[in-house]
Amino acid sequence: MKKIVKVNKDKCLGCGMCVGINSDVFDFDEDGLAKADNDKINDENKEEINNAIDSCPVSAIEVKEENE
Ligand code: SF4
Repeated sequence: MKKIVKVNKDKCLGCGMCVGINSDVFDFDEDGLAKADNDKINDENKEEINNAIDSCPVSAIEVKEENE
């Protein structure tokens, strides 16, 4: 099953940490909270994405199975 990165908007504070680490994948949504574009994740940036996941102060960035 394919894994996807998803921002849990119930937790996200809109602090911008993830966007600061990789603004190709992470961006602010209209609501001021972060969103993740999985189509932009590749072998070159996946370490940065893992770093962003670990850096989120409220652990709002989750890795899920695609159908969850
Ligand atoms: S680092 Fe976490 S809390 Fe901050 S904007 Fe990204 S997902 Fe939201």
